[in-house]
Amino acid sequence: MTDEPLLSVRNLKKHYPITKGLLSRQVGAAKAVDGISFDIHRGETLGLVGESGCGKSTAASSIIRLEEPTDGEVIFNGGDRAGRTRNPDGTHPNDVTRFDKKELKAFRRDAQMVFQDPSSSFDPRMTIGSSIAEMLLVHGMTDRQRRRAIVEDLLERVGLSASDYDRYPHEFSGGQKQRIALARALVLNPDLIVADEPVSALDVSIQAEILSLIDELQEEFDLSLLFISHDMSVIRKICDRVAVMYLGEIVEIGETEEIFSNPQHPYTEALLSSIPLPDPRAEREQIELTGTVPSPSNPPSGCRFHTRCPKVIQPDDLDLEQATWRRLLNLRDRVAADDVDIEQIQENALVDEDDGRPSNEVIKSQIRTEFDLPETLSDPQAEETLSQALEKLVADDRAGAAELLNGAFVTPCEQSVPEDTDHGGGHRSACILHEREQDSIELSTADD
Ligand code: SF4
Repeated sequence: MTDEPLLSVRNLKKHYPITKGLLSRQVGAAKAVDGISFDIHRGETLGLVGESGCGKSTAASSIIRLEEPTDGEVIFNGGDRAGRTRNPDGTHPNDVTRFDKKELKAFRRDAQMVFQDPSSSFDPRMTIGSSIAEMLLVHGMTDRQRRRAIVEDLLERVGLSASDYDRYPHEFSGGQKQRIALARALVLNPDLIVADEPVSALDVSIQAEILSLIDELQEEFDLSLLFISHDMSVIRKICDRVAVMYLGEIVEIGETEEIFSNPQHPYTEALLSSIPLPDPRAEREQIELTGTVPSPSNPPSGCRFHTRCPKVIQPDDLDLEQATWRRLLNLRDRVAADDVDIEQIQENALVDEDDGRPSNEVIKSQIRTEFDLPETLSDPQAEETLSQALEKLVADDRAGAAELLNGAFVTPCEQSVPEDTDHGGGHRSACILHEREQDSIELSTADD
């Protein structure tokens, strides 16, 4: 690995327009990737990890320009060593997002992609050897014998045999097909491979084989890798550094061992807590994230993780148990989204009245039970607001309940966008908690 980045992604965005009506008027945008930046150095593997729908696959296809990015730069092989500087208009001559057809063809030789499902990436009517050799032909190698010799050699290097050249895709298992996909990605001797969930469709035992093959090939071919996965344990096995993505943004980035031993962002902590421990008797607190990833067409304000974050910050005048605060915000958000089914809650409530209908008190208590809230909040002011809001909810005044809850329970995490905090050694995370910690360290140093 060298200090020179092979790939520099800067403020990359991919927004999909949301249109309406016959005239397809644009009414919004789904911000699948919303301003991500990172470098990949020569010989380095960077993992991009996050839940499904966080934008990592869109990021990959935008980098390789299978999709047109909306904004940002993807500078490939454009460091000082190449002796290139920026154009007078500020653009970079090696910015992939600006490449014309010819430049893009050359880039596609140097940067290859491996997909999750190897079955769908081969033509079932072509032998696998011809499928791979076709890449050489497209890029100008007309000598048939030479093409065959190169492909046969590659098949052996990925653990298959030269005689597999004349076999068809259906004759291979999933793991073997992924080996063939790797051979095809390598045939043009690329500098960069973007691998999008390359082992997630495979059995665990086969996963380990393919991961160690990727590792060996990376060394042998001096490759840089962008490795996309939802699985932290896979990332740990293969990546030098990790970027954690949530809802179109990178929330934490750093060296793999540092991220695993000293995670800073609450989302990274939650992802790590879900990895099974090797010793089944060992115990670790599993951090359960409530709710699903919000829609990228309407991302939450401030920190996008605030609708699910277990550490979401309380306002200065409140001091509830943290889990209660989280649940109170869950109630607030569900009421605001008109997503509290009072009829269902009534049915769940105990019947304690003669006419078979639960009393308002029982329904209010049932709402607290369903949101895991205590019968009385420890903070009297907060308790009064909650009681009044529940009263309105039971009286079917949902707007009134939402107004009360939205007015009283506001987290600083939804009011400002967290900035990157530098933890040293290239380890950065974006969380207001860290900003506050740094501010208080700076203050106490200034006082000394
Ligand atoms: S800024 Fe707030 S919501 Fe976001 S990760 Fe930090 S504590 Fe959680």
